[in-house]
Amino acid sequence: ATPTAIMVGTGVGAGAGVLVKAGDHLELAHKVNVVVFDKTGTITSGRPTVTDIWLADGTTEAELLSRAGALERQSEHPLGAAVVRCATDASVQLVDASDVQAVPGRGIKGVVDGHIVRVGNRRWLEEMGMTSFPDEQLANFESAGKTAVIVACDERVLGVLAIADTVKDDARSTVAKLQRMGIEVWMITGDNERTARCVAEEVGIHHVMAGVLPADKSAEVDGLRKLGRVVAMVGDGINDAPALVAADIGIAMGTGADVALQAADIALMRGNTHGVVDTIRLSNATMRKIR
Ligand code: ADP
Ligand code: MG
Repeated sequence: ATPTAIMVGTGVGAGAGVLVKAGDHLELAHKVNVVVFDKTGTITSGRPTVTDIWLADGTTEAELLSRAGALERQSEHPLGAAVVRCATDASVQLVDASDVQAVPGRGIKGVVDGHIVRVGNRRWLEEMGMTSFPDEQLANFESAGKTAVIVACDERVLGVLAIADTVKDDARSTVAKLQRMGIEVWMITGDNERTARCVAEEVGIHHVMAGVLPADKSAEVDGLRKLGRVVAMVGDGINDAPALVAADIGIAMGTGADVALQAADIALMRGNTHGVVDTIRLSNATMRKIR
């Protein structure tokens, strides 16, 4: 590509809210044949809310929210913020928690009244040796596309918070446009399979990698590259940074974490998914001008 074409392309991109860090990414983008989207905060708004609460026998809603909220107020995870908002809205007094520790891709734990409280997903609690879960409730929440967050005290389930996040307005049309351009679209998430499939279906994505631990996202991107694909990874979170680096092109949501923006080659300042289409179109146009 001539320096002039790249310069013009970069300028046009900036006008459309697509910030390209270096010209070679603009050249490479037209070769992309796989786009991998992170789910939370990229396909979805990333501002989830608690929509349903299921209580085990003997637990009150105030008890559940006060314990879960006590831990989650020390969390930086969007799910944590949803739990705290729910507790605040219900005017629940949060109890004291000590030794609070976030466990990436799994949940958060701490000590409340001498008991170990865990707030997180089923897989994690199974790893911790728990065997009894409200299967039917979990299935109902997950097949509605909600993240089922389990609150456990020692080895006992106290209840489940169903947390929903809405998909971005433009996500479905972005996916359709990419697919019409012959690009394979994937979604990757740490969330469970059932919830992930439901959200993916809502926006027309057929390829889903679910239950992927934060540390493994980049390996999944590498796997696609090893198959010979040219991969663009689109994400917003701290968790996504290694995958943004591993991809041929890392695209960060301008609304995302600083770490993600630093790791990315391209930033979408409008925070919507359509910027991915704009990026590839811009690259096509730039390359046409040079050849
Ligand atoms: P994503 O890939 O969607 O950004 P994460 O890797 O951050 O997801 O988290 C994966 C899963 O781990 C969540 O869907 C949730 O089940 C659980 N989890 C992580 N952090 C928390 C938390 N603070 N509270 C409750 N659950 C959590
Ligand atoms: Mg995210």
